[in-house]
Amino acid sequence: MMNTQLLVAPMLERAETYFPKKEVVSRTLDTTHRLTYRDIGKRTRALASVLEKFGVQRGERVGSFAWNHHRHLEAYFGVPGMGGIIHMINIRLPEEHLVHVINHAEDRVLLIDEDLLPLIERVKDKLTSVHTFVVMTDKDELPETSLAPIYSYEALIRDGDETYEFLQDIDENEPAAMCYTSATTGLPKGVVYSHRGIALHTLSLGLADSAAASEDDVSMPVVPMFHVNAWGMPFSSTWFGSKQVLPGPNFTPKLIAELIQSEGVTITAGVPTIWLGLLQVLEQENYDMSSLRAVLCGGSAAPKGMIEKFEKEYNIPFVHAYGMTETTPLVTLSRLKSHQQELPEAERMDVRSTQGMAVPGIDIKAINENGDIKWDGEDMGELLIRGPWIADEYHNDNRSEEAFQDGWLYTGDVVTIDEEGSINIVDRTKDLIKSGGEWISSVELENAIMAHDAVQEAAVVAVADPKWQERPVACVVVKDGDKVSISKDDINDFLRPQFAKWWLPDDVLFMDEIPKTSVGKFLKRALRDKVQQ
Ligand code: ADP
Repeated sequence: MMNTQLLVAPMLERAETYFPKKEVVSRTLDTTHRLTYRDIGKRTRALASVLEKFGVQRGERVGSFAWNHHRHLEAYFGVPGMGGIIHMINIRLPEEHLVHVINHAEDRVLLIDEDLLPLIERVKDKLTSVHTFVVMTDKDELPETSLAPIYSYEALIRDGDETYEFLQDIDENEPAAMCYTSATTGLPKGVVYSHRGIALHTLSLGLADSAAASEDDVSMPVVPMFHVNAWGMPFSSTWFGSKQVLPGPNFTPKLIAELIQSEGVTITAGVPTIWLGLLQVLEQENYDMSSLRAVLCGGSAAPKGMIEKFEKEYNIPFVHAYGMTETTPLVTLSRLKSHQQELPEAERMDVRSTQGMAVPGIDIKAINENGDIKWDGEDMGELLIRGPWIADEYHNDNRSEEAFQDGWLYTGDVVTIDEEGSINIVDRTKDLIKSGGEWISSVELENAIMAHDAVQEAAVVAVADPKWQERPVACVVVKDGDKVSISKDDINDFLRPQFAKWWLPDDVLFMDEIPKTSVGKFLKRALRDKVQQ
């Protein structure tokens, strides 16, 4: 067979060739843009030519510090297309981590959204590798800024070469992109994605039994483009020629609902907190959500109560998926097998709320002190993963040895696997609550509490206990505007029929907000500190 190379830029070339008139809708600070793949193609080529003029060398990093919009999409293809590596920087990183990831990746050029300039200005004196800044703005004139030298993205594109030919001689194993983990402990770890890994991952998103991404989709990644490549959606939407909707800066659940309705979005993706927010909007106002064929949800466990609400009350198909920064990210996804379609509704929902089966191409297993766990839905162990889009090391980081052993990625996630091969994430190793020699899953308790009608969000953490070593404490946010006041006893009464007595939280703390990580997950470390006080 021919050994043609699987590269990133040809994905965009296909969209230019077959779908030149297809739309990319992009919301920015000032306006909503409507471009076509023909426009995006020309602009991306111009960007690649400009980066070459700036002296970006093969294999050097270009950082993006941006929301989800068309300029970010152009960088997704333009940077790898000229032989560079796009490093998508998480805009919500604390200052110390921000400086670390830019210096550690040795970013040469930074592409920065106008409203995010102050965040980079604050750390500019600590940056050791950046020689050029580019501001991504709709305006012609450069904003007031202390960054130098700085150029306007649009002025550069105007002067760039829109007929630039993307590099042909790239080996598919060369790096195309990188992201850092959002690091709940220690400094973020860098993961480098090869052209090949991205291409194969993208194809997997198109499988009917996976996300079934297709030309006739209208695809809206709510998950940020700096959070594991927006889970690959910008690549699949472009390669397959879907209409894209990029929601831009400072979006709200209301805006998400409006965009789904006005643009006829068919597939969207994000972490559970986004969908909890959308549910609240749908409870208060009427929106037409009938275009949606899939809401992809991952990043942390999707509570069963939430999946049920989407499907039963709003008729919105919900797909629970699992992955990590290290895995590009898609690993497993929950769909009913044909023989499960006829199961009673409650059992179907049980299957759907697991994280599901590994997609083709990916192998999984789980191990504990006795070796491989039994696939019986009971035995627990750490999940191990391997496959062509799974990283095999961290970028220049001596923590690689711990995570990558014998050809497997050690995830740090504790799982059960049932007879059907569906995984259920019990907890992250470090979040499991060890009570009297037994384990309590914080995730299971959280999901059960979030099924209570008056609860908006719930997170469960361990507190030290002299007798039991650790005990669970629940932190609960009551629904906005809810007139019903609830107590610790109400929560425990609600949980009692579902759990052994010793699983019930020792305390329930009501709070206005649960602290979140930079990608919207519950920040358990901060909660533990808070609860310990
Ligand atoms: P970070 O590690 O910085 O939080 P990632 O997005 O890479 O960023 O997080 C990966 C982790 O998120 C997984 O190891 C797992 O613990 C958790 N996770 C991802 N998807 C799910 C899911 N569907 N259910 C439960 N946990 C999930």
